[in-house]
Amino acid sequence: MEPIIRSLDCLYPDIKVRVCKLLVALHDVGINMAAFETLRSIERQMEALAHKTSKTFNSLHLFGLAVDIWPVKAGKFVFGENGKDLDAWYFKNKNPVEYTDKAKQAGALGMRLGFTWGGDWDGDGNIKDQTFYDLVHFEDDYDIPIDTLHKIYIEGGLNRVWKYVDDCRWLCKGQKK
Ligand SMILES: [Zn+2]
Repeated sequence: MEPIIRSLDCLYPDIKVRVCKLLVALHDVGINMAAFETLRSIERQMEALAHKTSKTFNSLHLFGLAVDIWPVKAGKFVFGENGKDLDAWYFKNKNPVEYTDKAKQAGALGMRLGFTWGGDWDGDGNIKDQTFYDLVHFEDDYDIPIDTLHKIYIEGGLNRVWKYVDDCRWLCKGQKK
C-alpha cells in the first residue's frame, strides 16, 4: 500500500493557505477537522481506483490541488468500523441526500474560500444532483482543464504544474480569485 500523504506542505501553496483558513474557521465554530489526505501519488491513485475509493484518474489530488479533511476527536480521525462514524458525521439517518448541519457548515465555509466541494460539485446549493458524494473533499482547478494538468505533469512533474498554475493566476489577476 502506498502511504497516505497528510502534510499541508505538499499542497500547492495557495491551496495550503486556504485549507489552513478553512480548518481555523471550522475550529472557530467548534468543528474540529484535519487534513486526512493532501497530495496523492500516481501509484496511490491507481490503488484507490482498484479499491473503488476513487472513481476517476482525473483527481486534483495528483496535482496538490485538492484536500480531504476529516473530523477529529481527541486527536484522532473519526472513522469507526467500515467508516460508520464518518458516515454518521456527514449524513442524517444514513441518507445521502440529507447532510448534517456540521457537514453543511464545512461545505459552506469551504465554498466561501473558493473551493469546489464534493458535497455540491456544481455549487448550485442542490445536494440531490450529485453523481458522487465526497463530502470530505475540497479542490480548486483554477479553471484549468484537467487534460492540460495531466499533460504538463507528464512533461515536467509537479513543479511544472505548479509553475503553470502560478502563471495562469498571474494572467487572470484582477479577474479571478
Ligand atoms: Zn479527495
